[in-house]
Amino acid sequence: ALPVIYVITPTYARLVQKAELVRLSQTLMHVKNLHWIVVEDSPVKTQLVSELLAQSNLRFTHLHTETPKEHKRKETDPNWLKPRGVEQRNLALQWLRENRELSNEGVVYFADDDNTYSLRLFDEIRSTKRVSVWPVGLVGGLRFERPLVEGGKVMGFYTAWKPNRPFPVDMAGFAVALQLLLANREARFDLLAERGYLESSLLQSLASIEELEPKADNCTKVLVWHTRTEKPKMKQEELLQKQGLGSDPSIEV
Ligand code: UDP
Ligand code: MN
Repeated sequence: ALPVIYVITPTYARLVQKAELVRLSQTLMHVKNLHWIVVEDSPVKTQLVSELLAQSNLRFTHLHTETPKEHKRKETDPNWLKPRGVEQRNLALQWLRENRELSNEGVVYFADDDNTYSLRLFDEIRSTKRVSVWPVGLVGGLRFERPLVEGGKVMGFYTAWKPNRPFPVDMAGFAVALQLLLANREARFDLLAERGYLESSLLQSLASIEELEPKADNCTKVLVWHTRTEKPKMKQEELLQKQGLGSDPSIEV
């Protein structure tokens, strides 16, 4: 049987949330043997996400945990100030450890709700034995970042931003075998990790550089893009609201 791909997605309420989740869910619908673990950064499971999941026909697990206040980014903070989605990803790891066994064949991938994923990426992810890596487009101030491969082995990384990070790999650029995460029960993301070091905080306890499995034609193909969605302007909405003429709140966007 095909190993199950567990896709872990942290998500939080904002104007574009439904649009992001519709896009991602409709990508995932094309992937066989997939289990979507959606973790809301919220004190409750919201109706919007619950209904979207129920209507998706995907195999899913719906969890929630609110990022502690002192770690939450404020509207005015620059987006890089605090790591995002950390407690949510860790909760998904905990769920896997409590609900899956070493005999279950699977691969875990952390898919943020706003990136763009080629279906071909999931074919690459599926064959992960321990930790696999590949290029990510539009990230780190470059057209792409990627692992550098020689003789089928990862020898270093093409990256410009903080090149001394132990694993200069974006969240979208690696997958981990379920068995490895179940065998290393302490492995998790560090909520206090310095900017750019979140991925390293997990990967350091799972693999060494030499052990990484290069995918996507020896890391020469970009199959995932770190796209970011512009915050929609609500100028007219706000003006109308002041006159009591804001849009119908019963219509979900
Ligand atoms: N996220 C979250 N809570 C937050 C901010 C972000 O759960 O307060 C989620 C978000 O939905 C996404 C992931 O964490 O799936 C990464 O966030 P974002 O895309 O904003 O990060 P960036 O693209 O800047 O790395
Ligand atoms: Mn993002």
